[in-house]
Amino acid sequence: MVDSQYYLPNDIGISALDCREAFKLLSPKEKLYAHYLSRASWYGGLVVLIQTSPESAKIYVLLQKMFRAQTPLQMQETATAAGLSAEEYQAFLVYAAGLFANMGNYKSFGDTKFIPNLPKEKFKALVWESLAFKENPSDTEVLWNSCCEPLYSLEEKQKQLGLGEKGITAYFSGNCCLEDAEFAQKFLDSKNLSAYNTRLFKTEVDGKRCYEVRLASGKTEDCCAEEGEGETCCGRFEFEDAVFCVKRGDYSFLMEKVCQNLEKAKVNAADENQRRMLEEYIRSFTYGSVEAHKEGSRFWIKDKGPIVESYIGFIESYRDPFGSRGEFEGFVAVVNKAMSARFAQLVSSAEILLPELPWPPAFEKDRFLKPDFTSLDVLTFAGSGIPAGINIPNYDDIRQTEGFKNVSLGNVLAVAYATQKDKLTFLEEKDKDLYIKWKGPSFEVQVGLHELLGHGSGKLFVQDDKGKFNFDQTAVRNPETGELISSWYKGSETWDSKFSTIASSYEECRAECVGLYLCLSKQVLSIFGHEGEDAEEVIYVNWLNMVRAGLLGLEFYTPESKSWRQAHMQARFVILRVLLEAGEGLVCVKECTGTDGRPDAVITLDRSKINTVGKSAIQRFLCKLQVHKSTADVEGGRALYEGYSAVTSDGAHDFLRLRETVLLRKEARKMFVQANTFIKDDAVELTEYEGSAEGLIQSFIERFPDDSEEVDAQLLEMTRKDSLCWC
Ligand code: ZN
Repeated sequence: MVDSQYYLPNDIGISALDCREAFKLLSPKEKLYAHYLSRASWYGGLVVLIQTSPESAKIYVLLQKMFRAQTPLQMQETATAAGLSAEEYQAFLVYAAGLFANMGNYKSFGDTKFIPNLPKEKFKALVWESLAFKENPSDTEVLWNSCCEPLYSLEEKQKQLGLGEKGITAYFSGNCCLEDAEFAQKFLDSKNLSAYNTRLFKTEVDGKRCYEVRLASGKTEDCCAEEGEGETCCGRFEFEDAVFCVKRGDYSFLMEKVCQNLEKAKVNAADENQRRMLEEYIRSFTYGSVEAHKEGSRFWIKDKGPIVESYIGFIESYRDPFGSRGEFEGFVAVVNKAMSARFAQLVSSAEILLPELPWPPAFEKDRFLKPDFTSLDVLTFAGSGIPAGINIPNYDDIRQTEGFKNVSLGNVLAVAYATQKDKLTFLEEKDKDLYIKWKGPSFEVQVGLHELLGHGSGKLFVQDDKGKFNFDQTAVRNPETGELISSWYKGSETWDSKFSTIASSYEECRAECVGLYLCLSKQVLSIFGHEGEDAEEVIYVNWLNMVRAGLLGLEFYTPESKSWRQAHMQARFVILRVLLEAGEGLVCVKECTGTDGRPDAVITLDRSKINTVGKSAIQRFLCKLQVHKSTADVEGGRALYEGYSAVTSDGAHDFLRLRETVLLRKEARKMFVQANTFIKDDAVELTEYEGSAEGLIQSFIERFPDDSEEVDAQLLEMTRKDSLCWC
């Protein structure tokens, strides 16, 4: 039996990433811009196959060839003929979908390897029975032989990404170890070269260490020399007792495709700033220049609130075992104009809504300032995985002087919280359908309130360097004690500097409470189009979801260090505690035994008590949070927040045991099915696929309609070149 962490379960959640509404509202020109940026992203995303493991690209090509000859549905009969059971064929589909979604055979989150959950002989039998094999037996056999061993291997070193003996990496040739990585870094630093877009290959010539530093670029050395870009960084250098050759042209075929599509996007750019941004990216991917990418990123930061947002390049360095080489990613996200309009209306109603919050007027800002918040829907996210939000660029020098962007990816978040009914944990049967139906709408209300009126509300009492107060210290009283305010922020003190370690989770908790509290307002619900009974359902599901999230949050608590690893999840656990404490049967968390005989739990929420018991509990707690925050009362705030954050085994609930149950019932990370865009009669069309392994596979089969054969050939050629260096 293979340890289940090394394969993807047959019932893994696979959801379509819905951006239809947002896409539909784009202008024709915006659609073209989004289309070509998507094309650039998808071609570039294939780089991740080469970056992940030596076999990833070969497996990708094998699966592409099989499914281009037969759709997943057509192949089902073939599978039966090859002797696969229905479960085994499903396991094959899930494996293929997983390989496409992760762009390789290692999980993008966690970096562990996954192998197919069916015997190797069965996989092979299916390949031999497939139409792709029948049309081209010799090539298919060669391809299978080149990847079948690592495809199934779970040797210690193969189990995870890592350097040297620790694991597999394709950022370095197989003979490199940590010492080589450190030595190369020293060399790169001496040349003022960034490692972001590079890989390192080591050979030995006459007993001398020889390193090849490959830069990702469309052009190779010779053409660069002609264009005057040659001498900038490439060449042969003696360094200490070794030789370094810095060479261009890694993934050159893909980098050229990226540039060609960025050129077409440029024609459809919204303004001069976007054009210059793309020009710099093109220069970066043509010549392998990180400096040019930084220039592009500077224009990107200035591209404020665009309708079509994107970022592309070698960005996150988590998967380089040495942590300095970036994995390729490219994304295109669009403003959901309809949702933005609802959020804008919420902002313009702030003056009426803020006074409803449970603190005295003196504790509210003199003038409401809309927080910097953008929610976008992802059209394309190419690379190894999709995050729920982005905070880039990663270049520290640019972040400090020119800033960064913080964007929430709305449709990703919405999917992350949506679950198929049979996998909806910890709810009563009667709540499940309701939850599925209203989760999306209630989530939008909660996000809007959280981000805009949550983070946007409340005043900090400050005495500036000159001794001037921003409040009347002779009149403002603590609403609980009735006493005059006796503490405040002085001089350069800030919320983060005062509340340090608890600042972010405490603030998330305050924002979440504002959402729970204000979603009870009829006016808020009508802004989002919910009236009457529907409005009641939105409230119920929003509160129910908060209770469930509080329980699920326990996954992010580490008992050994008694610490929380995720600010939002800690915040939701705190809220669960507050609602449990309110008593009167409002919320109940009951441990039980599941139908599978293993520990389980069920949460219930009494909807008739939300507006009474629930509302007044959140009202009191939210007021306390705000008073400690406004008055810089770290001691009081810490005692309050850490008290509710404590995960204990005493009292009415055994939260440590509940945590075990949460871990036991944890759902495997979902995969996303993304749409394709095609140009038809000069207009861009969106093609969507169903949220299933079949849909995910189909989306990848249709992704490169013009040159899929060439893409395959080029990918194989790249891995062949690499393998020459993997001694
Ligand atoms: Zn927040």
